Amino acid sequence: MSLIVMKFGGSSVGDAERMKRVANRVVERQREGNRCVVVVSAMGDTTDDLIDLSKQICTVTPPAREMDMLLTTGEQVSVALLSMAVQSLGQPAVSFTGWQAGMYTEAVHGKARITDIQPERVLKALDQGNVVIVAGFQGMTTDGEITTLGRGGSDTTAVALAAAIQADVCEIFTDVDGIYSTDPRVVKCARKLPEITYDEMLELANLGAAVLHPRAVEYAKNYNVPLVVRSSFNHNAGTNVKEEAAMEQGIVVRGIASDKNVARISILGVEEKPGQLAKVFTALANEQIDVDIIVQSGVMNGAADFSFTVALTDKDKALEVIQSIRSEVGFREVSSQENLVKVSIVGAGMVSTPGVAAKMFEVISNLGLSINMVSTSEIKTSCVIDNSRLNEVIQALHTAYGLDTDQQAFVGGPADRR
Ligand code: ADP
Ligand code: ASP
Ligand code: MG
Repeated sequence: MSLIVMKFGGSSVGDAERMKRVANRVVERQREGNRCVVVVSAMGDTTDDLIDLSKQICTVTPPAREMDMLLTTGEQVSVALLSMAVQSLGQPAVSFTGWQAGMYTEAVHGKARITDIQPERVLKALDQGNVVIVAGFQGMTTDGEITTLGRGGSDTTAVALAAAIQADVCEIFTDVDGIYSTDPRVVKCARKLPEITYDEMLELANLGAAVLHPRAVEYAKNYNVPLVVRSSFNHNAGTNVKEEAAMEQGIVVRGIASDKNVARISILGVEEKPGQLAKVFTALANEQIDVDIIVQSGVMNGAADFSFTVALTDKDKALEVIQSIRSEVGFREVSSQENLVKVSIVGAGMVSTPGVAAKMFEVISNLGLSINMVSTSEIKTSCVIDNSRLNEVIQALHTAYGLDTDQQAFVGGPADRR
């Protein structure tokens, strides 16, 4: 008998029919002799719809606490309906909110980290023969305030819960057959990966591959949770995410990801004196602005230029922060650039294979595009480029690294999702 955590994303429970199909799948697993905990997201585009609704009420940014109160209702609808669907198949089930399931988080609204899980109630309900259905994406502070874990955070609920109850496996059911070499909605001949390492998946998720929430992968790695990503629309084998994964011969790049939430900020003519970088980045950090790639040019006439990237959504705030320290730092001008994208290649084998990054630069320049910024780690190379020909760039990289297959990827759910 195995203890399984099954997580179903928004498109898998997008309407009543899909909800019933998920219920059948869960009951099937329970009747095979397993004990099932199910984590669900809000139905379809509910979370986006709730955000739109808040914008109709508030002309300024809505209060973060009330936003969490609003958004957590989406998952609450799902757990109740799924529990009804499971019970109507004759299988006892019980639904829990995040807080009923013992998910504690830090006191931050909108993107809280899980700090503790007290799963006694979940375990008790399982012992009583129930399928336990838990609302993803939500938690509670020790003061009893409701929080959310960030967009896509139901994956993290599932993996963290799997770690807390020592489940044998955490299965993430979604609208594609598994993890692919790149988004199968963008590249039709994307390759389905039988397996991928935690480290590679963590890079891909952080670099924009929406198929898993980065913190879910972090959790899986830290607690060694066996993770499988598979389709809720068929029974095909999915992708195993694990500590070590075999690489196909002759292939060094496991996957390609892209992220359009990027803006470049350049500060020109910065007076050359010690501690300048520290001043700028401390001021940004104090406003919770994450800086990604940083490039500093050589010093000329006692002044230096430097550029860095921030999330596009943080750009205006970052510019304000920099203007506010202008007299303290001393610089000539500050400018910003949008319409960019960060394209990344990821593969554990890159570290021991020369020329992988060089090939990426060549592919991009052969398309007549210039590279604005580059960053590398042992297992990834990222280039910031103009975003106008992104799909073409990804397809060219995919072909150049030998990743194309002649099989069309399985993509379930609405064709126009993104
Ligand atoms: P869910 O609602 O199930 O959580 P998501 O939209 O969060 O689903 O994640 C699944 C989507 O991730 C797929 O529809 C696909 O378009 C996208 N995706 C991006 N990169 C990849 C990748 N490398 N492999 C598979 N899917 C990917
Ligand atoms: N419903 C939330 C979102 O749309 C959480 C999730 O789906 O994982 O981001
Ligand atoms: Mg998701």
